[in-house]
Amino acid sequence: MTGLNGDFIPPAKPVIGEAEIEAAVRVLRSGLVVQGPEVAAFEEEFGELVSGRRCVAVNSGTSALQLTLMALGFGPGDEIIVPSFSFAASANAVRLVGAEPVFVDIEPGSFCVDPEAVAAAVTPRTVAIMPVHLYGHPAAMDKIMAIAERHGLAVVEDAAQAHGASLHGKPVGAFGTAGCFSFYPTKNMHSLEGGMITTGDAGLARTLRLLRNQGMEKRYANEIVGANMRMTDVAAAIGRVQLRQLPDWTAQRQANAKFLDSKITGMVTPPVADGAVHVYHQYTVRVRGDRDAAQKRLTELGIGNAVYYPTPIHRLIPYLTQDGTPGPWDLPETERAAAEVVSLPVHPSLSQADLERIADGANLAGGAR
Ligand SMILES: *Cc1c(COP(=O)(O)O)cnc(C)c1O
Repeated sequence: MTGLNGDFIPPAKPVIGEAEIEAAVRVLRSGLVVQGPEVAAFEEEFGELVSGRRCVAVNSGTSALQLTLMALGFGPGDEIIVPSFSFAASANAVRLVGAEPVFVDIEPGSFCVDPEAVAAAVTPRTVAIMPVHLYGHPAAMDKIMAIAERHGLAVVEDAAQAHGASLHGKPVGAFGTAGCFSFYPTKNMHSLEGGMITTGDAGLARTLRLLRNQGMEKRYANEIVGANMRMTDVAAAIGRVQLRQLPDWTAQRQANAKFLDSKITGMVTPPVADGAVHVYHQYTVRVRGDRDAAQKRLTELGIGNAVYYPTPIHRLIPYLTQDGTPGPWDLPETERAAAEVVSLPVHPSLSQADLERIADGANLAGGAR
């Protein structure tokens, strides 16, 4: 697709460079392809991103969430507090272990869970809080951890979009009982498919290692019932190459966002909370006028754009009540965000000319009718 002013600017651009290809080929030639030395090295190196916590690699971000909830022993009868304004994987992980998601609203400024809503949603059946660091902005972890401590709840951070984000100097994935990252190709770094669980709890780390591998530490000496959620060494080798580039890519995303912030006046640019370091997995603006018209205009101008997420999770089919209507959730900021947001390209492959076109396009589209 070509826009009026030149080539189409894609909304995301996963990198598979020569170094990634060489790493994959090296592993394939070695013959050690599943959960071997590359996975161990990737786990060790990823720890630096989360204040030295233990890391357990798995085959996806969804597996990371599901395995963590399994390892913590959550299941039927348990309630887990999650934002409805997220990717369905957050709530799917809860349902996959048989627990019930309790949906809470977001703070309009950060698009992340509102701690007051979290506190109000705690019941005697609540076992955990799952904040999502949406778009790469850290959730209000200081307040969320205080609520969790007050009620004795686990905290499972969905950090799938937030590699390297931090709040008051502490990285996401280093706050909760566990943090869960995704390495899907469109994320800030990838391993084709993959995920990482981070935790400060050695016992939990061991349980996670058992659960991802049929309950075995020693081959055929199965200790518990487990799944197969192993990462391949090919994926880990690619992930290691990407991890080395992550700091530069993050800085580029932040510089791109800063430029867009300074130029875009026709739409509401993404705010950043006090003490938060945003890593801009998405650069998400709010459209004040007609969003459909704005998106149409952006596309005509050759500017990739997408809505994450047009339907809040509580309105998706699997989360409706038996009569096919949404549950009794009162989530006005979630509904408003779902109706207003659009994400613009912010990935590190953008040129200065691309950035200028995106800003000009956003200003034009912001007034589109
Ligand atoms: C991508 C994503 C996931 C799931 O990660 P996968 O690796 O695709 O399984 C979970 N939560 C959020 C918020 C995500 O963006």
